[in-house]
Amino acid sequence: MSLVEKIIRADVRALSAYHVPDASGFLKLDAMENPYTLTPELAQKLAQHLASIELNRYPVPSYTALKTSLAKHFDVPAGFDLVLGNGSDELIAMVSTACAIPGAKVLAPLPGFVMYAMSAKFAGMEFVGVPLKPDFTLDTGAMLAAIAEHKPAITYLAYPNNPTGTLYDANDIVAILQAVGDTGIVIIDEAYQPFAQTSFMPRLAEFPNMVVMRTVSKLGLAGIRLGYMSGAKNLMNEFDKVRPPYNVNVLTEAATLCLLEHAEVFEQQAAQLREQRSQLAIQLSALPGVEVFPSSANFLLIRLTNPLDFEKSDGYGDQVFTKLLEQKILVKNVGKMHYLLKNCLRITVSTAKENAAFLEALKQSL
Ligand SMILES: *Cc1c(COP(=O)(O)O)cnc(C)c1O
Repeated sequence: MSLVEKIIRADVRALSAYHVPDASGFLKLDAMENPYTLTPELAQKLAQHLASIELNRYPVPSYTALKTSLAKHFDVPAGFDLVLGNGSDELIAMVSTACAIPGAKVLAPLPGFVMYAMSAKFAGMEFVGVPLKPDFTLDTGAMLAAIAEHKPAITYLAYPNNPTGTLYDANDIVAILQAVGDTGIVIIDEAYQPFAQTSFMPRLAEFPNMVVMRTVSKLGLAGIRLGYMSGAKNLMNEFDKVRPPYNVNVLTEAATLCLLEHAEVFEQQAAQLREQRSQLAIQLSALPGVEVFPSSANFLLIRLTNPLDFEKSDGYGDQVFTKLLEQKILVKNVGKMHYLLKNCLRITVSTAKENAAFLEALKQSL
């Protein structure tokens, strides 16, 4: 036995590493990043603020000022505490760690965000995926049946969903919250809230088993890595115990405090991207063989069928993806992620200029 075989878990050895393609020289439309950078004035202000931070000190682990600012700007109801993460990816890992009682299960619709299943696996929990309907709406009947059968400790609902962009019906989500009852928690992952403009955050008091999770990543600050979640105090107290005490670094803390004073900048950018999303959806729908799914996020999911011969659409999504790559455009090929996503590509909505460049390249690729 090699050293690796002796000490590394077999299920970890069997995994392939999370692959992030090298995007240098590409128009990058694969990761839902906000295309806008800071204005020179704001960059200057931030630089001055960051220069004043004492990097020799650990963060103050209560993060009181940061939590107060986040709660104020993002409408967390009074009396609800926040737990902070190094991105919501870390929050997902923390919840899994805290809930990993032997035999406990995690449930989520599929196709969905890959970290739910990954994180469950890392924590040694069984993951149960429930297929969406072919139009990517929630199969509520199947969800309720799976909840009754598996009694999941954690149920994830991304609102709106990644990679489909679907905003599930709020009544279906309430039905799921009620079905889970006091046997588990339901995490409403609102990573795309700035583009959906609707939220379960104001309803926290209604559902003691609901956790609302957010991130500043899709709003335009993916690089600083900050996620937050809120829910009933007794739950947050326990999740906070498995949080590494200094998980949010002083630069992230200071940058967030400084930039949230200018929250309107990011709100305007989100509004522009919502407008671009509608325009791009209309333009894409006009192309032969392109089906666009409704999206409440800052990306669009499209399905490609060979416009010359529908019968010959097998692998057509891969072909178009490759032709886009040849033109230095990087989107996400999700065609092999799940059977419902055959021939589908996910495209981040960007500026009018970048969207036009993508559209032109797509026309050349069909
Ligand atoms: C991007 C994304 C996240 C991850 O956010 P980070 O804060 O950058 O870790 C979480 N959930 C969903 C559904 C996402 O698409």
